[in-house]
Amino acid sequence: MQVSKLPGQGASIFTVMSALAAKHNAINLSQGFPEFNPDPTLVESVHRAMKNGLNQYSPMAGQLSLRQVLADRQNSWGRVFSIDADKHITIVPGATAGLFSVFQALVMSGDEVILFDPSYDCYAPSIVLAGGVPVRLSINPDGSYPFDALKHAINAKTKMVVVNTPHNPLGLVFGRAQWAALSQVLTDTSVIVLSDEVYEHMVFDESEHVSVLQVPELAHRAVAISSFGKTFHATGWKLGYVTAPENLTHEIRKIYQFLAFAANTPMQIAAAEFLSSNPRYEKSVSTVMQQKRDLFVDRLHKSRFRLLPCAGAYFQIVDYSDISDRPDLDFAIHLTETLGVASIPVSAFYENPHPNQRWLRFCFAKNDETLLKSTELLCQL
Ligand code: PMP
Ligand code: GLN
Repeated sequence: MQVSKLPGQGASIFTVMSALAAKHNAINLSQGFPEFNPDPTLVESVHRAMKNGLNQYSPMAGQLSLRQVLADRQNSWGRVFSIDADKHITIVPGATAGLFSVFQALVMSGDEVILFDPSYDCYAPSIVLAGGVPVRLSINPDGSYPFDALKHAINAKTKMVVVNTPHNPLGLVFGRAQWAALSQVLTDTSVIVLSDEVYEHMVFDESEHVSVLQVPELAHRAVAISSFGKTFHATGWKLGYVTAPENLTHEIRKIYQFLAFAANTPMQIAAAEFLSSNPRYEKSVSTVMQQKRDLFVDRLHKSRFRLLPCAGAYFQIVDYSDISDRPDLDFAIHLTETLGVASIPVSAFYENPHPNQRWLRFCFAKNDETLLKSTELLCQL
């Protein structure tokens, strides 16, 4: 029998629920991906790059034209230190590959890495494969962070704390007050902060995205992760980037060069062209997603679900305890099979799920007619 490096690990909940949705021809609001296409000029630009023969390896750290536009962008948004295209930005084939490279590069055998559950599925396995130990604290049911528990969890073995803002699955935004509280807990430590910011351009109402690279006490020991999959509505393109101080970037690139070596060339060229000619593109992403959220939430107000607040990302959490007492995985499967609407059970994001929590996650990055059809079905419950 082959010994497993990840015993007990099955297919991810996103794979499982998307397959179930396909099998039952259900509306798939489970795995997070937009139903609409990237901007056509971006697609044409990729095509043009391919036709112009830009089909060979990119430099390991990525196309300089793209890194430069990203550095300029970040500097215009305000960063604690001036972001340099060469020293601080590495283009990667998707945030997942970026996260994996960071964990492999920075987590040593026996190091502890603190995660706030519910946490995105790839963090814990990547930490384990690096020889590290995930230490999982739970975000409180009211959406506040357990800073006291964090204080107690930190010890000489703590290497890193992982933050995800805007948050998948809860839609929470880690604002200035939370960054200040985290900074205070980490004063007098050298703990690294890994901030997964793939939904950075999807923030709603009065919320504002605050990157770890804007936090004076943390930016010099921080890594920020971004994804063009989210920002361009092109999850299948698998393109993202990692921003970090020079000493951390140096170590991350050592690993990354052997994970993938480089991300695909035509999309990098096109991303650089597109961002250069659309200086305010990112602003439009929040507007599009907020309209989707508002439509979904408005229609579900007539249902028996209780809706949690959603300040960012493209997921709505609903509490179904007035409808059913079934555990969430059971209920998500049941809704997919019988109602024709697929969702994600939130317990999948926990090491120790709350036994009485009855929460499902719906992705609202869908066409309006899909949102109308799915909410009509959900209102029948
Ligand atoms: N982090 C979070 C919080 C995500 O939700 C996702 C994917 N949706 C990723 C990372 C991975 O992004 P990518 O598809 O660019 O690998
Ligand atoms: N991030 C997406 C989600 O949360 C899933 C990506 C994947 O399937 N790995 O739904």
